[in-house]
Amino acid sequence: GGNRAPDYLAGLNPEQRLAVETTEGPVLVLAGAGTGKTRVLTTRIAHILATGRAYPSQILAVTFTNKAAREMKHRIGVLVGEAVEGMPWLGTFHSIGVKLLRRHAELAGLRSDFTILDTDDVIRLIKQLIQAEGLDDKRWPARQFAQIIDGWKNKGLGPSEIPEGDARAFANGKGRELYKAYQDRLTTLNACDFGDLLCHPIRIFRAHPDVLKEYHRKFKYILVDEYQDTNTAQYMWLRLLAQRPEARGHVPAGQTAVAEGQSPQAAVRPVSENQVNICCVGDDDQSIYGWRGAEVDNILRFDKDFPGATVIRLERNYRSTAHILGAASHLIAHNEGRLGKTLFTEKADPDDAKVMVHAAWDSEEEARAVGEEIEALQSRRHNLNDMAILVRASFQMREFEDRFVTLGLNYRVIGGPRFYERQEIRDAMAYFRVVAQGADDLAFERIVNVPKRGLGEAAIRQVHDTARAMRVPMLEAAGKLAESDEMKPKPRAALREVAANFARWQGLIDTTPHTELAEIILEESGYTEMWKNDKSADAPTRLENLKELIRSMEEYESLRGFLEHVALVMDAEQNENLDAVSIMTLHSAKGLEFDTVFLPGWEEGLFPHQRALDEGGRSGLEEERRLAYVGLTRAKKNLHLWFTSNRRIHGLWQSTIPSRFLDELPEAHVEVAEAGSSYGGYGMGGFGERQAGRQNPYGASRFDNVGSGAGSFSNTYATPGWQRAQQNRTEATDRNWGSRSGHSV
Ligand code: ATP
Ligand code: MG
Repeated sequence: GGNRAPDYLAGLNPEQRLAVETTEGPVLVLAGAGTGKTRVLTTRIAHILATGRAYPSQILAVTFTNKAAREMKHRIGVLVGEAVEGMPWLGTFHSIGVKLLRRHAELAGLRSDFTILDTDDVIRLIKQLIQAEGLDDKRWPARQFAQIIDGWKNKGLGPSEIPEGDARAFANGKGRELYKAYQDRLTTLNACDFGDLLCHPIRIFRAHPDVLKEYHRKFKYILVDEYQDTNTAQYMWLRLLAQRPEARGHVPAGQTAVAEGQSPQAAVRPVSENQVNICCVGDDDQSIYGWRGAEVDNILRFDKDFPGATVIRLERNYRSTAHILGAASHLIAHNEGRLGKTLFTEKADPDDAKVMVHAAWDSEEEARAVGEEIEALQSRRHNLNDMAILVRASFQMREFEDRFVTLGLNYRVIGGPRFYERQEIRDAMAYFRVVAQGADDLAFERIVNVPKRGLGEAAIRQVHDTARAMRVPMLEAAGKLAESDEMKPKPRAALREVAANFARWQGLIDTTPHTELAEIILEESGYTEMWKNDKSADAPTRLENLKELIRSMEEYESLRGFLEHVALVMDAEQNENLDAVSIMTLHSAKGLEFDTVFLPGWEEGLFPHQRALDEGGRSGLEEERRLAYVGLTRAKKNLHLWFTSNRRIHGLWQSTIPSRFLDELPEAHVEVAEAGSSYGGYGMGGFGERQAGRQNPYGASRFDNVGSGAGSFSNTYATPGWQRAQQNRTEATDRNWGSRSGHSV
């Protein structure tokens, strides 16, 4: 070996290089935003491959979203070329989980062609169970119980493991039975939910040490990005895979914290079969999924879990200007529960723009002004791809979408309502699912009477009951009922046709190209016809979507491959090639970076969110602040923050108060934007002062006077009733968002 470092190592700083070259033993990279943690992971994989330490198939690499996995694959490809193609174990916890489960489905009581249910399916299923228990499903909403189950699964708890108090809290004390009935039902359906994609493998690993051992031999290197947001189940899963009992005592101790400037050469250790070669990277300041069960403590106890771990800190931020970094660091310093870290940047050009704070009258004004700003940037040859709008709550998106449509500005919603969630797409998919997997009762129920075939609720219930009594899938029960005289002639004829259709389509699976089969199914079932006859305004769009669905199937080899793709892919794939502004929630922006970032809606009750304020304690507010930190640190060059003086919620105007987070930004790095022509009088003199009469719940805000000079719509700051009304709304959407990106595969 000569002294010349391979190309991919060039340009790394000494600590980054240490993290890349310390391939053996446990390594934790704990560092702030933009310091190159993800880059380290990518380069580390390239290094492992380039030095022949492992085959691509022996590397397990976990990212937080699909998008991140694709991005990582791409970056590794740039470094090592084709070797990256064979990396089957690079993905999210869920995508890797599904792969494991397919291999060992029988150990979880499933067949390998099991279906993955989405949230809608789960809720429908739980509703049935709640009703079957004779419970009032208004008093005990299925959606709520679905969330409770999800929470249990995030902790890796099965029905027998949940705490007594938890079990008693739902459904008149029937929580545990319901959970168990739900799991039994999933098994009968040959299906699982997203939580099972982790929980089943965990249980399999525990019950079958031989299987676990197979993976210990298989995975020579384990890498995890965004480690601060792993939940308990993910943590248990990782520990099972990474901790090898035989390895205890063999791990060389002593090399814990590595100070800056220490020689990176000391790193490479000899390979040992039992060694725990796990590398996790994360930032405690960016832990933003606590509300969904993420345990930031996982990162704090890493060196207890993996004795002798090398802990590496990175301090140079390569992403942002000094103003942006200064603003973000100052803000996050208001949190108490943090490890604390230094960050510096060498990007300090006197021409760099300060962080801009803008005021708008209301959200329409805000969207209009952001649109103008974007167009101005565009006219100076900035790419739309380099700009993003990051919102606290998804309802904020609509205003921007509307505005951009009006302006003809391309945009894409990331992690948002997607193509595959549309009604017509879900219907079509349900047909495909039943054809691919006859036991998929939920899919069957969805379309058995779509289009209308004269199968009323009673008939469907009869199919349902027969299926349960005979312990067979509903499709099979339908076939049986169609041959018996237990049913009235009309529904009977309808069922006979349904059963015959599915039997025929299933028979075509192996002989007909899947795109062709899909077209046949949609034609022969009368589904396409249904929309052709539909007079509503959106029917033509739906027909177009169905065509697009068939087109998109061409990229997959089989119907099953396609169905799996759709079940798993949660990231929106909105025309990746188009130059477009990205719109997404702050939660989905983790790990990403853009030249210009717009952060609208910095108002009390929206950001920080009312939910966090209502909690009263420090932890909710601190998580909001970490979210703000994530938002600020996405920007490389330009950062624009917005707040409005008024918001219209459910048709009612309410005046609002600038976010306390604005006050927590250091004045040296912040500039308040000049009034736009349309705003009327701007009370610029208010910077640093307090406007009398406004009851700001957290004290004086130096932004109180900004932008509200013309008078708020309602100057009496009433109890934030709107905020509470809004909370219900945003909470629901937020949690959807969250679980979406968390479940993305
Ligand atoms: P986050 O906490 O937001 O996920 P991160 O720590 O993962 O951030 P990266 O996304 O890996 O940071 O890196 C931030 C930016 O800095 C990227 O554009 C990356 O290419 C660049 N970068 C990282 N290290 C270096 C380096 N040594 N030289 C030049 N650029 C670098
Ligand atoms: Mg990263």
